[in-house]
Amino acid sequence: MITTKRAAKAVGKHISRAVLALRAALGAKPVFQCSACGAGVVGFFRYGDCTDWGCPRCGASPRERLMNYLVDSGRLPLTDGAILHMAPNEGTLVRRFGAAASDYVPADLDPSRYTVAGAARVDLMELADHGRFDLFYASHVMEHVPDDAAVLSNIFRALKPGGEAWLIVPLWEKPTEDGSYAMPPRERERRFGQWDHVRQYGMDFVDRIAAAGFEVETIAATGIDPAIRRRHALGDILFRARKPATTSRGNG
Ligand SMILES: [Zn+2]
Repeated sequence: MITTKRAAKAVGKHISRAVLALRAALGAKPVFQCSACGAGVVGFFRYGDCTDWGCPRCGASPRERLMNYLVDSGRLPLTDGAILHMAPNEGTLVRRFGAAASDYVPADLDPSRYTVAGAARVDLMELADHGRFDLFYASHVMEHVPDDAAVLSNIFRALKPGGEAWLIVPLWEKPTEDGSYAMPPRERERRFGQWDHVRQYGMDFVDRIAAAGFEVETIAATGIDPAIRRRHALGDILFRARKPATTSRGNG
């Protein structure tokens, strides 16, 4: 479903990209750097309300750049074990996770939407693995699942003790509001910003992750050194959830 809101964002993005290309052609200095592809760039293109959204070279979003920065800086250690990567459309992370892991599983409810080779069909509502993965990564996925408590429990069970889930979701200032797929798509778009979103998260997402048994740390782009943050135009907040190495919950 293409909505007028999305179409307007797409037009704005194309204009912004054209302006950046023109500035680069006219000799503007590449004073910024994309932490995803490494390119020096004259700026980042606009998407919606975000003026520094996309890398003009590789298209990386602020959250894709944040993840690459956190891995490069050693803040997030990459496992050489098993990784389940949901909605694998961030090319730099597909390459990094695929190179690091001995068992890399890119997956989605609808794998045909992705170009990554060997994408598996995984419905997080039905995820039944036990202690298989060292790392679970899902960016902008949890706002689509019908029952996030069930999915967080499934992720917890699918991880090895000591394994981690790295989660990014769209956030607003208010507490989380839940909807459902029983709502008309138009109402979901009005309330949650997109027709296929069934909730809008606030920072209380932390409590939902913790309720599944995880220890949770939030890593916000705003907490990173301002000069570095500006140089890479980093944005967003990562919810880093760790399954305790020893668990008393009996389902690990
Ligand atoms: Zn880039």
